[in-house]
Amino acid sequence: MSFTGTIQNCFDSHVHWLATGQAQMRLLLRDLKSASEVKNLKVDKNFFRGEWLVGFGWDDNRWESRDLPTRITLDKVFPNFPVSFSRADGHALWVNTLALKLSGLWQKDLPDPSGGKIIKDESGWPTGVLIDMADAAVFAKIPPPSFLQIKESLLAGMNIFNREGFTHIRDMTCNLSQWNASVELDQKKSLTLAVEQYFNADDPKNFDRVLDFVSAAKKSATTNLRPKGLKVYFDGALGSEGALLSQCYCGKNHKGLQIISVDLLEEIMMATWDKSFELAVHAIGDAAAHLVLTTANKVWTKYPNGILHIEHAEILRPDSIALMKKQNVRCHLQPCHWLSDKSFLKDKIGTLFEHVFPWQTLLQNEIPFDFGSDSPIEPPSLNDNYRAVQELVKQGIGLQEVEVAKYQTHHDIDWTPRTRTYFHQSNVEAVFFRGEKLF
Ligand SMILES: [Zn+2]
Repeated sequence: MSFTGTIQNCFDSHVHWLATGQAQMRLLLRDLKSASEVKNLKVDKNFFRGEWLVGFGWDDNRWESRDLPTRITLDKVFPNFPVSFSRADGHALWVNTLALKLSGLWQKDLPDPSGGKIIKDESGWPTGVLIDMADAAVFAKIPPPSFLQIKESLLAGMNIFNREGFTHIRDMTCNLSQWNASVELDQKKSLTLAVEQYFNADDPKNFDRVLDFVSAAKKSATTNLRPKGLKVYFDGALGSEGALLSQCYCGKNHKGLQIISVDLLEEIMMATWDKSFELAVHAIGDAAAHLVLTTANKVWTKYPNGILHIEHAEILRPDSIALMKKQNVRCHLQPCHWLSDKSFLKDKIGTLFEHVFPWQTLLQNEIPFDFGSDSPIEPPSLNDNYRAVQELVKQGIGLQEVEVAKYQTHHDIDWTPRTRTYFHQSNVEAVFFRGEKLF
């Protein structure tokens, strides 16, 4: 199954725009086949932020020994500067001892921060892997990119989306400096991409400040940039066992991570909907989605028009889907995650596997949903989503193949006239944005 035809407003419904561009310039770790292969990496000065070596894309689930890596391997190869390597799912960080020291994490028996986990060895020292919110202490120490670097990365990211045929994205990690950079690019007519923008609350307790950014952005919105609302994380990801499940991970005694409390989520929902902004909540595990939806059902009694987006929704139980019926809720699925997750998914989640990639049940219940890539976690690609849907149907997940193109179309026809992408067997043949031929 592939796609031949035209898509008007070809849309990726969940991406990280800046990170997509940055991934081009960062040290890529996708091809590592074991932790020790870091000794073969070719390190360029462009991979540094200040004194920090920054890399992205390792995945222990693709390694022969599926053990998490440790700081000791990094210390041997990079003893002289701090190293920060993000996992392929963006939900775990692998660092060396110097990085732990600079971040104040080089302590015995350090308690886990809320919504995060510091992996420790038998004697209570950090092993060098930090899950979800535990990475915040490290990121706080890495110098942010300059305004010029942000603009360059946004353009690099835009070119990747355009090349793959996408003229519309929904970006989940905007912040103030990115917003200002993208406005400048659009005012200079450099953007060939229509962007729905969600501002990310890095520190969820400071959501008020982020809502102020959204308010300010609404006032400076440009032709191609539409600020929509706020994005928060409710749980982590499956690969690093941070997604919140209703039962323990197979062979483990934990169910994943809940990043924010239900009370805080309720507070965020009310504040966001009070300002008539949209709220996007990252919820991968079935328990995460269920808690988000029960909370929303409570808050909807007060704010019936509040718009909720469930990001990823990789495992949804029917009783959770029932909570979405006739509500202002939309799900954003990335079938392509299957292509990476298939190597471990069944082994990790056991009987919950029957609820993965639930487009079938969403369709039956008339819950709207879109497809995307979560770029740069997976490359933005219509073809990958077609391939994944086909494989999933063969697995008995989803009884029928869905026309992927339909779920990768932005429905606001008036936003960008004369914008369309021509595909032949899912390959991009030509891309037009506002009448201009890009490829
Ligand atoms: Zn994402």
